Amino acid sequence: MSDAVADGAKSMEELVSLCKRRGFIFPASEIYGGLNGFWDYGPLGVQLKKNLADRWWRDMTLTPPLREGKPVSIVGVDSSIIQNPRVWEASGHVGGFSDPMVDCTETKFRYRADHLVCIGEKGDTSGQIYVHIEDDDETYAAARKKLDKYKKRSLANEEIDTCPFVSLSAEERAIAVGPHAKAPGTLTEPRAFNLMFQTYVGATASEDDKAYLRPETAQGIFLNFANVTDTSRVRVPFGIAQVGKAFRNEVTPRNFIFRSREFEQMEMEFFCHKDDAQQWLDYWVAERKRWWNSIGLSDDNMIVRKHDDDELAHYSKNGAGTYDIEYRWPFTHPGFGELEGVAHRSNFDLSQHKEHSKKKLEYFDQERNERYLPDVIEPAAGLTRGVLALLCEAFTPDESRASKVVMKFKPSMAPIKAAVYPLVNKDGMPEVAEKLVRELRGRSGHMGLIEFDPKQSIGKRYARMDEAGCPVCFTIDGDTMSDQTVTYRDRDTLAQDRIAIDKVGDWLDEKLRS
Ligand code: ATP
Repeated sequence: MSDAVADGAKSMEELVSLCKRRGFIFPASEIYGGLNGFWDYGPLGVQLKKNLADRWWRDMTLTPPLREGKPVSIVGVDSSIIQNPRVWEASGHVGGFSDPMVDCTETKFRYRADHLVCIGEKGDTSGQIYVHIEDDDETYAAARKKLDKYKKRSLANEEIDTCPFVSLSAEERAIAVGPHAKAPGTLTEPRAFNLMFQTYVGATASEDDKAYLRPETAQGIFLNFANVTDTSRVRVPFGIAQVGKAFRNEVTPRNFIFRSREFEQMEMEFFCHKDDAQQWLDYWVAERKRWWNSIGLSDDNMIVRKHDDDELAHYSKNGAGTYDIEYRWPFTHPGFGELEGVAHRSNFDLSQHKEHSKKKLEYFDQERNERYLPDVIEPAAGLTRGVLALLCEAFTPDESRASKVVMKFKPSMAPIKAAVYPLVNKDGMPEVAEKLVRELRGRSGHMGLIEFDPKQSIGKRYARMDEAGCPVCFTIDGDTMSDQTVTYRDRDTLAQDRIAIDKVGDWLDEKLRS
């Protein structure tokens, strides 16, 4: 933890710099110095994000998974980002959606109270208590340094006690030194802080016109529950899926796109009878983990963690539990952090909306001859956090390559599917290459870019494609002109072989199925 990069962890710094260099992700408003917690996606990043979202959409709504040999039933919606503000009163977000925050009166930094951890010497309550931010190597190292200095020696890990900041007494808080502060006693009591971005609808901007940017996509689904059951043939059990932006005024946005203030979610609300909810919860936990696995996240880097009772969200209180699918991020390594939550929301949301809107939202189940508000199982994934997981998983340092790093995306997820290179920019080679590019772009079976680049040494062009994670490069050379074959170079094995130019399309389609 004290080292910037824990043993075996990939370097976030290198990954962020590769993302910038190759056009995956840039800081938003970069030419104005950026804006904390906001990111822009470049040509490769937007395609990677689209591939992930499209795959989720396909596997939820177009070819949904099977249960007992039959496809489960899931339809899609796309709801507004701004809704009637009463929605957020009903959902518990106004009032409830606030993390307790701690301000530092010395540095003016603001921290999420549950992210602050204190360290001190074991068995010794004298002196000062040093506070750092959980999973933040820099503030931890700074806190340790201050503690070592106070004790005038380097303390071993076993000698250090840790405890959450929120459990400190008022006296202990008075001697606590904040993560970025010099003096003790500058951290305030934890206070509520609303995470929703506010705006005004219409020109007058009065209190009555106040509205919110949605902090999750889920509520837009609940709002349309009756519309969907009234207008389509779906029958409980069934799901409604949505992909879209969500906004949270996070207190400490950090770890690149892991925790940002504007992000995207892929959420599905699965409506079922309460007697079946536990089984569906188990089904979706297993199914979602299998899905992340199928798009390239290795089993070694994922765990399923059941929430402790005191962690459960307000809506899950009557439910049978919530599970997180967690990924081993470079900044949590060797530990894990949330990628997707699968929650049993009981019928909390529908009953809240029923009460607040005074509309009938019950469903009539013909098979059971029963009218009820269905329970809900919610697999809620971060799309942008998923992009980060794909980037982290793909990032593979390799000193033997010119690029020193290769992005090993699964071919089906890779933003660039293939590159076509004339060996030299003359002798008819560019024309043959361009023709092949047109053919490959015209094939509709794959979602991704086909790169064409006639310039630079072939080694440099391959190196760029290694960093971009392009699974295969085709090179048109002198022999192509006489025998109609091209060289292909495999990103992962570095194997090179020749293939007939008219077979390239089918060969690539096959490769992209993996
Ligand atoms: P966390 O505990 O990390 O704040 P959460 O439990 O509040 O997350 P949910 O409300 O369950 O998150 O949202 C579902 C998913 O949305 C999360 O699993 C995560 O992938 C994504 N997500 C939530 N907040 C952010 C954020 N600020 N930036 C990027 N992705 C986010």
